[in-house]
Amino acid sequence: MHSPWSATPADTLSAAGTQALAQPHTRLIQALLYAGALVFALVWWVESQAGVLTPWDFWLLPVMGCGVFASALLLHWRPASQPWVMLGNVACLNLYLVATLHASLHFGTGALQWFQFSTVLYWVPLGYGLAFVCLGTRAALGVSAITFSALFGPLTWVAMAGRAPPWASSFGAFLAVIAMAHGMYVLLLLAVVRLRAGQARAEESARLLHLVATTDTLTGLPNRRALNAALQSGIASARQSGQPLAVALIDIDHFKAINDTHGHAAGDDVLRQIGQVMQAELRRTDGVGRWGGEEFLLCLPGTSISAAADLAERLRLAVQLHEFPHGQPVTVSIGLAQLLGEDDLEQLLQRTDRALYRAKAQGRNRTEIQTIGVA
Ligand code: GH3
Ligand code: MG
Ligand code: MG
Repeated sequence: MHSPWSATPADTLSAAGTQALAQPHTRLIQALLYAGALVFALVWWVESQAGVLTPWDFWLLPVMGCGVFASALLLHWRPASQPWVMLGNVACLNLYLVATLHASLHFGTGALQWFQFSTVLYWVPLGYGLAFVCLGTRAALGVSAITFSALFGPLTWVAMAGRAPPWASSFGAFLAVIAMAHGMYVLLLLAVVRLRAGQARAEESARLLHLVATTDTLTGLPNRRALNAALQSGIASARQSGQPLAVALIDIDHFKAINDTHGHAAGDDVLRQIGQVMQAELRRTDGVGRWGGEEFLLCLPGTSISAAADLAERLRLAVQLHEFPHGQPVTVSIGLAQLLGEDDLEQLLQRTDRALYRAKAQGRNRTEIQTIGVA
């Protein structure tokens, strides 16, 4: 889930875009190719041991295995070649399966022919599956349709011409059943792709919805909802770890006057720029968000009150020294408090608010710390 401190929505969205442009699942494809190379070697070994290796597979299986292994290595060195590697492997595997099936029917004989013919038919769904893993849905459907037709077209002609192999007692029925099974494999792959795409879309909209619900539109910072959640979890982990937790409320001084004098748009600019100034000063584990109006809240887990006071002063000075587009300096008042004893969120915020009130009462542009409990 999106951490409120990890990045602005713009960062997150552009990172998602970059990820979408990057090649998907390179490691998975590599693992598949290595497994494929191993399987080609094992099939060669098993078939040669059993004496059922055809003369063409004696050469073709090692060639295919080496090709697949080489393309996995290529992905290590040149990840950008992934689309071509995937296309090449899909094309070679499907071509190999179609060619060896027909070769076994035309050149094979007897029980050996039955072994070769039926084992290839078992492997063909792998050709469809690889197409769905490596290509877009339309292209995968196209490859599957071509492979299916290239297999069952000529086989139907063989059956109708009465040239079925002698071991096939009802070759037509055999082909019909296998063709239906292959059709079902393709439909199943299509269903998996569609379901996965729907799931990915739902996850993406949930992520965006969460981002929108926890982000302040003007500043791009986490909003009050996100801050509340961060504070609750900050309190829970501070209780668990015994680490300190400091919270600061930052309020822009005389902000109404900025709006009144320079216009609402200038006021908006000030809010945005103060957000940026504070973000630039903070560590990644610190959190800043817009609490509401012209108030920001800092959540500082694992920070002692004296370290938080130093940080607050640094932020205050950074804002004071920043040059705003409307040409006038802007200052902030900061109220700081630390999680104490049995504090709950409300008590902690009350004390922070009191500190801020004191900072305002004592002349603004200053940091005040409230350490004692609220009566
Ligand atoms: P103080 O120093 O006591 O904090 O005075 P202040 O003028 O900053 O505080 P006050 O509460 O009187 O005014 C806050 C102003 O902030 C009033 C409101 O119109 C303005 N404001 C709240 N949200 C926004 C916003 O999103 N954009 C702009 N431009 N102004 C806003
Ligand atoms: Mg205020
Ligand atoms: Mg104010």
